[in-house]
Amino acid sequence: MIAVLGSANMDLVATVDRAPGRGETVTGRDFTTVPGGKGANQALAAARAGGDVAFLGAVGDDDFGRRITALLAGAGIDVSGLAVSDRPTGTAHITVDATSDNSIVVVPGANGTVTELTDAHRAAVDAADLLMLQLELPLVLVTQAARYARERGVRVVLTPAPAVPLPAELLTAVDVLVPNEHEAALLAGVADPVEAAHALAGRGGDVVVTLGARGALRVSGAATTQVPAFEVEAVDTTAAGDTFAGVLAVGLAEGLEWPDALRRASAAAALSVQRPGASSSMPDRAEIDAFLAE
Ligand code: ADP
Repeated sequence: MIAVLGSANMDLVATVDRAPGRGETVTGRDFTTVPGGKGANQALAAARAGGDVAFLGAVGDDDFGRRITALLAGAGIDVSGLAVSDRPTGTAHITVDATSDNSIVVVPGANGTVTELTDAHRAAVDAADLLMLQLELPLVLVTQAARYARERGVRVVLTPAPAVPLPAELLTAVDVLVPNEHEAALLAGVADPVEAAHALAGRGGDVVVTLGARGALRVSGAATTQVPAFEVEAVDTTAAGDTFAGVLAVGLAEGLEWPDALRRASAAAALSVQRPGASSSMPDRAEIDAFLAE
């Protein structure tokens, strides 16, 4: 089983010709609400790929929270560890202009109330083969969870996004660190992804740096492996990284060898970028199998 402790948000997306300036009102072209948050996205990617998943976090006692919970539960995810907070469900207020540039206000809301490891979190980690973490919940909680899992011998996979400097206490409890190239550069303090990956692997454990259309790079000890991306026509790369991480976790939890787990993750991400949306673009297990058999 895979336990995912992370954020759940509703993305409120307005498309506009140009973003308003200070004090200005503009008329938008369109509006959509899209369930998101890196935690919920990774949980959905893993569940679609056939993983047995429990999602831990918090939503508000509101329509957004109920919609997210229904989406997760509908994908077969165990939501018994998803708390209902008295704060509103986390939201991301996104304005996308005609040149595809965006401005975003994130209000963590309920996500910000997950500050301590609860008995429900511990029970889920105890039952898990693997714990997936990101950095959209308070850092103290993420650190506490990683250390708890490490003590129990449960493998910890961390996507360090949004990138912030990480305490050694957290880094040394992580088995698999999965940054994109920007996060890797920020964490390691060097721009080159290969150098950054080696610097981050110095803590022990594996590092998988995702490089967008250029694939990914795995560093384990002194060994470096290139993971090619599949050549596809990308229309929307939202949540490509979350799809990659979720499907990688399923492979590792099922005991696949690294090359196979990475290949499945790349295939799932390649499928997701060919379709618009975040969770709606994530492939199921049969699609991943069919794509790899082509
Ligand atoms: P993030 O979304 O976190 O920034 P990346 O952009 O690095 O993550 O993408 C994650 C993975 O998704 C890549 O390692 C690759 O396997 C796949 N991917 C991303 N963009 C493309 C693309 N244009 N074509 C094929 N695969 C892609």
